[in-house]
Amino acid sequence: MSCASVANPTQFPLLADPAGYVPCDWNLTADPEQRRYWLGVFRSQFPRLLAQAVQVAPAQGASEAAARKCADIARDDFFAYLDAVTEKPDRFGRLDILQICRARERALRNAAIADPYVTAKDDENRSALQLLPEVIEDVDALSEAERWTAVVKGVFAGNIFDLGAAETAKLFQLGELGFFSTRKKLKPRPWLIDDLDKWAARLQAEGSYRAACVFVDNAGSDVVLGMIPFVRELLKRGTTVVLTANATPALNDITHQELTPLVHDIGRWDDLVGHALRDRRLLLISSGNGLPLIDLTHVSGVLAQAVERLDVDLVVLEGMGRAIESNFSARFACDCLKVAMVKDHGVARALGGSLYDLVFKFESP
Ligand code: MG
Repeated sequence: MSCASVANPTQFPLLADPAGYVPCDWNLTADPEQRRYWLGVFRSQFPRLLAQAVQVAPAQGASEAAARKCADIARDDFFAYLDAVTEKPDRFGRLDILQICRARERALRNAAIADPYVTAKDDENRSALQLLPEVIEDVDALSEAERWTAVVKGVFAGNIFDLGAAETAKLFQLGELGFFSTRKKLKPRPWLIDDLDKWAARLQAEGSYRAACVFVDNAGSDVVLGMIPFVRELLKRGTTVVLTANATPALNDITHQELTPLVHDIGRWDDLVGHALRDRRLLLISSGNGLPLIDLTHVSGVLAQAVERLDVDLVVLEGMGRAIESNFSARFACDCLKVAMVKDHGVARALGGSLYDLVFKFESP
């Protein structure tokens, strides 16, 4: 992670229409019903986040009393923001989920709360790593034709580890977010958006991509059991992969700092990942982002440079925040995949679907 790259954000070079790009196209200023829903979601989730922050404080060397004080400061700050935009939605400009996420992270940082989910992420990374050899073995044993379906189902199943969504956070508390059981219970095809056949046909007809820029979402099973097998498939076909994670913590999203040792650990026993790291065909680069959504006009300079240098011809946005709540209508100058499990009622409604629907959107310019 480079501080300079975070401090000097730049535009993602592959936006098809930078001038017309809107990161988050649900305008809550103009939609009272949506606005009420989302402000309610943020208001009801924040205490859970603060409770987590207090819980992990002793392990980080802070007293519980001090942590409670920080939590109170953050709550007052963020709730004052929510009250302000409830009363006057356009008080800080156009209101959207991205802006509310920014206000939430700002309230946490101002109260010196760095990373409430640090322990949950670490625990989940560890248990996911134990399952990875089995997942890889299963995938590698499949025929070429079966492999993408299996890998994409793995991405969906892993993406359920989302502590930002009320439904899945509840399941996590109950210990009901198992990767294999989730994969078995996924909704059948055709998914809500199902371009998998189109994607397979593209690979068949035009061969491999030169380089892919893959925006990952959550820690644990999401990145380890979902995205690593996905990335391995790209690597097998000779594609160079830039794996890009957040610069700073947001909910249970994996950060670049966490992802780097994790992937190097995998590379110690998995030859495919190990060789790709050594040959610099697998690169880990901070996105510069610090939110569960992403504004592609604010990515790190290093990421933008790598995308240009490698002549990236595939963009992958993974997870509800990056692929649906933001960037759903973003168009790119190259092929793009938007892949996510729908874990929120509001998101489901906006897509005309229902909870746990699956999105595999493939777009060509
Ligand atoms: Mg996330």
